[in-house]
Formats: sequence, structure tokens, C-alpha cells
Amino acid sequence: MKIVHAASELFPFVKTGGLADVCAALSKSLAEFGHDVSFILPGYRQILESAAFKKAKLKLVLQLEMDQDFLRGEVYSLPLSKRQTLYIIRRDEFFDRSFLYGQPGRDYDDNDRRYIYFCKAIVETMHLLDIKADILHCHDWQTALAPLFLRIEEQDSTTSLALKTFFSIHNLAFQGLFPSRSFRFTNLPEEFNAVDGLEFYEQISMIKGGIFFADKIMTVSPNYAREILTPDFGCGLDGVLAVREEDLIGVANGIDTDVWDPSSDDALPAYYSVDKLDGKSACRSLLLDEVKLPPTDKPVYGMICRLTEQKGLDLVLRSMNFFVKNNCRLIILGMGDQNYERALKRWVKAHPQHIAVAMKLDESMSHLVEAGSDFYLMPSIFEPCGLNQMYSQRYGAVPIVSNVGGLKDTVLSISDDPEKGAGISFEPTDEGLKVALEESLKLFKNKQAYSKAQQNGMARDFSWKKAARQYEELYLTSI
Ligand code: ADP
Repeated sequence: MKIVHAASELFPFVKTGGLADVCAALSKSLAEFGHDVSFILPGYRQILESAAFKKAKLKLVLQLEMDQDFLRGEVYSLPLSKRQTLYIIRRDEFFDRSFLYGQPGRDYDDNDRRYIYFCKAIVETMHLLDIKADILHCHDWQTALAPLFLRIEEQDSTTSLALKTFFSIHNLAFQGLFPSRSFRFTNLPEEFNAVDGLEFYEQISMIKGGIFFADKIMTVSPNYAREILTPDFGCGLDGVLAVREEDLIGVANGIDTDVWDPSSDDALPAYYSVDKLDGKSACRSLLLDEVKLPPTDKPVYGMICRLTEQKGLDLVLRSMNFFVKNNCRLIILGMGDQNYERALKRWVKAHPQHIAVAMKLDESMSHLVEAGSDFYLMPSIFEPCGLNQMYSQRYGAVPIVSNVGGLKDTVLSISDDPEKGAGISFEPTDEGLKVALEESLKLFKNKQAYSKAQQNGMARDFSWKKAARQYEELYLTSI
């Protein structure tokens, strides 16, 4: 098959979250299965300044209609492997900026123009390159209008650009909502600015375009696919999703088991594996050292995440006394909402022996946190799939997770299955987390039971192969 993916992030070029990891691993696996995979990405500053970009070739010049203007852009191509090509949409006015989506705490004012432009560029690139794809697979709101633009372009030019379009929701909370006046940048007929189009409570919603007009709607875990049909998790779109329920499919993400492999991970001071765990203690010591926490025989808890409400920061802040009282260690790697950053700094200041927070984006430290922690804490209020609970199982850090979304699909709780269980799960409430943390203390004291949980997690296959085969099957049966 010829498969085109389009997204706003791709590891290792640009990443703010799991989207980048998923896009990289899925497209790599599909190429390994023998498909031709193209990937279309905005030309952000990180890419333009990367060493890889020096090898990119100018392939096309675009002129895209945006309201009354025609805006120029360039498409660079960069081969990633024999069957993988990256296309970079360059328009520096839009993408050559310090941040992807906005300054901390405030989105860029022109995100409507930036991403409507990107959606148009995806389709125009496919058109001009004459790719004739089997599948166009768009990810998240930044690409959500491409399936609709593609069908309109096909009507106008009577050629097939893609047999089927897929739209993946990686997180329904991010929707691309803009004032109604932004509609003009789409240059779509006015009929699309309606309830069964992009209109959403007197605004326009880019994600709604993807949900309505793609042939299939994917999300990143089966449980999240069920949850988003309910008002509790539907972020106001449960009604819209219900219309497309028959075409809504959840496939749990995998992880890149080459990048995340404790037996060959260069970010670690020692390697280890499920059969030979010795090296993990050196990772634990180095981690404590790096964050300036004293050694301990009590558990070390790790967390790596955006500091947002979604990730359960309120629950964590209200449970801080647990770590202090029990002489445990809590290490958080993350950046995000200033209120959480401030509150965490206060805790670090008051309890520097127990709590450490590294407020930076640090890929290599994230590997050390997984390797050096005894438990990995993920008390998300909602979680489409989540990656860190899989990384943590692979690195022998027993996950403590709320029982929502993909966490339910990817962590087998010890209380549900004492033989095969690999984690602790709980209702995301203060009481739920308290009980889970107490349980982790007990588990840690029982060395045999703790090792078993670690080994169960490490032995589980989270590789992308399985998930990518499911996507391949869905693509094949849809065309
Ligand atoms: P989300 O996509 O909702 O942010 P996921 O768990 O799906 O959450 O993926 C987050 C990804 O971003 C993981 O790979 C995680 O390790 C990484 N990450 C988040 N914050 C940081 C940070 N401060 N430094 C390094 N990696 C981070």
C-alpha cells in the first residue's frame, strides 16, 4: 500500500508529547512491513535547525488560497529509510518559531491560519506529487481538515488522491476551536459552517471536521474509544462521535522497543533485563544522585508528564504527605501549568530530602527516571492511551495507574490477577490514590511479590508490531 501520514509532531524531529512517539513508531513499522510510507510535517524551527534538514531537498513550491490571499510555501523531502519519506511544509512565517503551539500559558493567536494552511498543504502536496495514496491517515486536530479538503479537491480535479482517509484522536481534549470568523480561511462553501459541518457552539472546531469527514476514526485504545462516547469523557463531542460510532475504532498504542530497551539504553549507567535485573540498582542510585535526593531503602516513585490537570497533578499535590511521612522519594520530570510548577517548587523547598522536581524537557533523563524508579506514578484523570505506563513496565518500575482509558488496557492489575498482574490500579480520587500508595508500600516490602510484578511487566510485549498489524489490517479491509 501507499500510505501517507500527516501530523504536527514526529519523533525525533519535533515532540511535545506521545503523538510524536506514536507517529514515528507506527510509520516505521508500516514501512518495515513493506508499505511505502510518506509523512507530512510542518517545518518547525527544530527541524529547520536539525542536522538532518541539511540533507533535505526542495521538492515543490505551493501557492495556497487562504481567504482572499494566496500564500506561498515550500515542500522539502527527506528520505528516512528505503520506504519512508518525510515531507516538510515550510512557511517560516507560520512555523519557524520558538514553540510549536504558543508561548507558555498562551496559544499563538494565528493557530487557525497556521493549521488550516497545514491541512491545505497536506492535500496539495499529495496532489502535486501525484502520490495516489491508498490511505491518508491524519493525526489530531492540526491535520483534521485534510480529509475534507481532500474530498473537495478530488471533486474538483476528478482524480483520486487517497482511497480512504483515517483520522486519529490522540487526545479529545485538544480540539482546535476557533472563532467563527476563522472559517473564511478554509475557503469552504458556507454549508460546511453548520452543525453537521465544522460549527461547534458558534465556533469552528477543526477536530469535528476530522470526525465527520474521515472514512474511519481511530483512537489510541479500545477503552478510550468506549469512554469518549459518554458525556464524562466526550469533551462535548460525545454526540458527534455517536453519529460515527460504527466507524470509530480503538487500537492501543505500542512503544518503540528499540528506543526503550533497558538492555541497551545509553542513557543508563548500567544495562539490565528481565532475566538479569542487577543493573537497575545502579540506575536507581544515579537517579537519586542526579536529583540530589539521599539514598533510601524505601520506594522511589517516578513521574514524567506535562504538569496539567489531566495528569492528576491535583491528586499528587494532595498526597504529598504520604511520601514525606513514609520517608519515600518522589521524582517528577515535567513542565506545564504555572500553578502546578509553583506548588511543586514549594514542596521541594519544604522537603528537599523527599521530593525532587526537574522542570525541563529531557529525553535522556526520562529514560533514567523510568530505570531508576521502583514505582511509576500515573494518576491521570483521563488518559487516551498513555505511554509511560508501558515504558515503566519495560523498565521494571511497577506502574500505579488510575483505571481510565488506555491505562486499563495496558496495565494488568495485581489485585485482578495476582499471578500475571504487573501494576496497581485505582479510581482517580484522593482516597483511591491513598489506598494505592499504601498498597505499593506493602508490595515493596514483599520482595518476592514485588519482583514478580516487575518481571510480569518486563516480559509483556508492548512492541508496535502488534498494533501496527492491526492498523495494516484496518487499512486493507477499508480499501
Ligand atoms: P501525553 O501525550 O498526554 O503528554 P503520553 O504518556 O502519551 O502523554 O506521552 C508523553 C510522552 O512525553 C512520553 O514519551 C513522556 O516520556 C514524554 N515527556 C513528557 N514530559 C517530558 C519531559 N519533561 N521530559 C522528557 N519527556 C517527557
